[in-house]
Amino acid sequence: MIAEIVAIGTELLMGQIVNTNAQYLSRRLQSLGISVYYHTTVGDNPQRLEATLAQALARSDVVITTGGLGPTQDDLSKEIAAKLLGLNMVFDAESWREIEGYFAGLGRVCPANNKKQAMFAEGATILKNACGTAPGCLIERAGKVLVQLPGPPQEMADMFERQVYGYLAQRTGGCIASRYMRIYGLGESQVAQLCAKWIECGGEVTVAPYCSLGECQLRVTARGESEAQALEKVRPVVQAMAERLGESVYAVLPESEGSMEEIAGRELTARGLTVATAESCTGGLVAARLVRFPGISAALGEAHVTYANEAKIKYCGVKPETLARCGAVSEETAREMAQGLRARSGADIAVSTTGIAGPSGGTREKPVGLVYVGCADASGVRVEKLTLSGSRERIRSLAALRALDMIRRACLTYETR
Ligand code: ATP
Ligand code: MG
Repeated sequence: MIAEIVAIGTELLMGQIVNTNAQYLSRRLQSLGISVYYHTTVGDNPQRLEATLAQALARSDVVITTGGLGPTQDDLSKEIAAKLLGLNMVFDAESWREIEGYFAGLGRVCPANNKKQAMFAEGATILKNACGTAPGCLIERAGKVLVQLPGPPQEMADMFERQVYGYLAQRTGGCIASRYMRIYGLGESQVAQLCAKWIECGGEVTVAPYCSLGECQLRVTARGESEAQALEKVRPVVQAMAERLGESVYAVLPESEGSMEEIAGRELTARGLTVATAESCTGGLVAARLVRFPGISAALGEAHVTYANEAKIKYCGVKPETLARCGAVSEETAREMAQGLRARSGADIAVSTTGIAGPSGGTREKPVGLVYVGCADASGVRVEKLTLSGSRERIRSLAALRALDMIRRACLTYETR
């Protein structure tokens, strides 16, 4: 089943507002397994609107319009659709009573031009508007469906969820469900290679890989009569791939959103652990990302930016000899930063970063992108050496991500509460 979303409104074309309705509807249609092939935007112009609707109905099975259901002269969506389909507009007394009731509820008199909002193409199913005045409608025609929703996002979403989603789910004969596997520490091609069997199988469970900075994600999707049934098909594939990918899989989530700091935050708080940070080249990025997790106050007691040698000595107890002998960017310094901070702060887990973020400051022995990340916990201290490339921002982000992953992995060695 192919869908098209037609956003109607000159404000959209003029860049005054962003077409969030199309984004919203695309996501929801995707969850139903309906492929959205086109997003079209057209202004409040009768000829162009009619041509756009004609094109949409010719090439798509489901056409959803948003906007243009208001009471004013330039709100023409329903009228143009009826004209295109050769249907008369008829007055619906019940809708009119509800519109009058809506105004009465606000203590206002209903303007006469709102009567237009109670007119619909004959045979249309009327969609009630629980949040505003403009009702929407749904017209079935020659195996195709035209759904007309209001423009204001809240009204549009409410109407769609209550009156359209279930209808479309029935028409598609089911529902699709996805799980998102979050992967850190393996490149996209490694992931694709390890999971080729599932990615390429073309069966009823589809696996799609995609990557963002330093991370990979696998979307695992299946169709079923219900969400639960679809998930039953997804589960064994997720499990098999998780076994294959091992520790790199740091989360399996129901949404594509969700981040390493969220997972680290959850692992920390689930165990009642505390964490402290001492950052040099990341300059507080690790702490800033941790703080994005609501509830981190239970875990994060202190976070230091120890940029200068003196600060590394003062806050982490790094030995001046170590700095003199090995330099600030060294495995030894990272180790002493993490160890010293853990001892001084009393935190269960302490992480440190020290590196050369560039663009200058690199040498042959210590090039730009060389970063050491240390992590101390009850079992000892580990230091990981990263050789990163790219911009200063990229190097800092990737180093912070590694520190967050080390916190997460350190948590796994402790029992949950
Ligand atoms: P109204 O009764 O408010 O006139 P309407 O159904 O006629 O509703 P429009 O006039 O097209 O809808 O849009 C009303 C408002 O809804 C816009 O000013 C804008 O704030 C919002 N809106 C419309 N279309 C979109 C869209 N595609 N994405 C996000 N917001 C939108
Ligand atoms: Mg309007």
